[in-house]
Amino acid sequence: MKTKSPVVKNQEFEGEVIDLTYQGLGVVKIDDFPVFVVNAIPGEIVKVGITKAQKNFAFGRVIKRLKDSPNRNQDVDQDAITTGIAPLANLKYDAQLAYKQSQIVELFKKVHVDANVAETIGMENPVGYRNKAQIPVREIKGELTTGFYRRNSHNLVAIEDYYIQDPEIDKAIVVVRDILRKYHVPAYDEFTNQGVIRTIMVRRGYYSHEMMVVLVTRTKKLQLVDEIVREISEALPEVKSIIQNINPDKTNVIMGRENNVLWGAKIIKDTLFDKQFEIGPLSFYQVNPQTTERLYSLAADKANLQGDELVIDAYSGIGTISLTIADRVREVMGVEIVEGAVEDAKRNAKINGIKNVHFTLGKAEEQMVAWQEAEVQPDVIFVDPPRKGLTPELIDAATAMAPAKLIYISCNPATLARDAVQILANGYHISGDIQPVDQFPQTTHIESVTVFEKDV
Ligand code: SAH
Repeated sequence: MKTKSPVVKNQEFEGEVIDLTYQGLGVVKIDDFPVFVVNAIPGEIVKVGITKAQKNFAFGRVIKRLKDSPNRNQDVDQDAITTGIAPLANLKYDAQLAYKQSQIVELFKKVHVDANVAETIGMENPVGYRNKAQIPVREIKGELTTGFYRRNSHNLVAIEDYYIQDPEIDKAIVVVRDILRKYHVPAYDEFTNQGVIRTIMVRRGYYSHEMMVVLVTRTKKLQLVDEIVREISEALPEVKSIIQNINPDKTNVIMGRENNVLWGAKIIKDTLFDKQFEIGPLSFYQVNPQTTERLYSLAADKANLQGDELVIDAYSGIGTISLTIADRVREVMGVEIVEGAVEDAKRNAKINGIKNVHFTLGKAEEQMVAWQEAEVQPDVIFVDPPRKGLTPELIDAATAMAPAKLIYISCNPATLARDAVQILANGYHISGDIQPVDQFPQTTHIESVTVFEKDV
């Protein structure tokens, strides 16, 4: 067994990029030893400098590109790639879509599950789509600065064009930054846990154009808060809600638990499939409204709803899936862990006049078992979990209730593939193709819909 890395920091070598990892890093090998390189794509010949050497692999950076891939997108700002805003933007969009499809294929091969993966459904205009921004605030050269971290670091790079965000959000961040500068509000310092403004969060309704600005602060006190709030609301007429979120801890978690409405409403509104949604500061809301409609209509179509079904919507968030399918089924039961999101979901049912949906606050893995023990008999179960996927208990409880279909909306193909093994073992098969939908263009995130059907 090797105990030491065969390469050392700052060592230089030349090689061909042979693969792209799930994090979008190019793989270059010295003999058999893999080096992961930022902004290097398969087929390219690069001169690499080692930045960090570990026992089984190393990280490197491109010193010089000796041959470009035809898949390289030459028209993108390098900061977008190297900060991790848009780590895949060095690939032309078609190549990004193919990469996402093949990542799912490979992960299913690894777990020995046969599955067809369809071509990724992409966006026509895959930039400027994000309806939400969480922008770190730090002091650079004595000035409060907004931007993004260099990848694998906490070094803030000043940025004004975030490439994948709604351009109106980019503008709003600069406006808020300038107002905070004007009133000399101290930026947060994560090393000493001092300073005040940690993060600026902005959300903008795609259809409503309503904007929410959240100032995440370390301290309860925010100096000159009245002036700051007045200036933000005057400078940005779309702003309907300004909220202070307090996060006193020395932590990487962005939002704290306490929210104070500084001005305006405590939610903003938006629509999805002509349904009204109210969204609070701590609630999850899909970040790409254009592809979300495609994703959900696809999932609903694949469920082939006839009007009489009992449906479970696990990980229901603010109720987007439940409410958009409600008029095609008998009843929907949702479960969600974030209290504010459940409140939003219940209110959203009410404002849309929808009566056949019920939301429970709790852990999906526990609630699924409770439903099974209560002998609930769902016809269809939707699951839309976070990146860590489902738990074995949830899968056992869900399949024990024997729904005809289990529709898995996944934002992480690695956990999807892992969970598929257990779902198949419990008497289900994959029906049709796994369908990737590009919810997150220019990034390495992969969203997909899979239908598991009960074996007969
Ligand atoms: N289906 C919704 C939300 C999907 S995101 C939509 O499309 O908008 C995943 C959701 O799962 C988030 O709202 C998150 O708060 C919630 N969540 C995370 N862990 C959970 C758990 N263990 N039990 C229930 N909900 C959970």
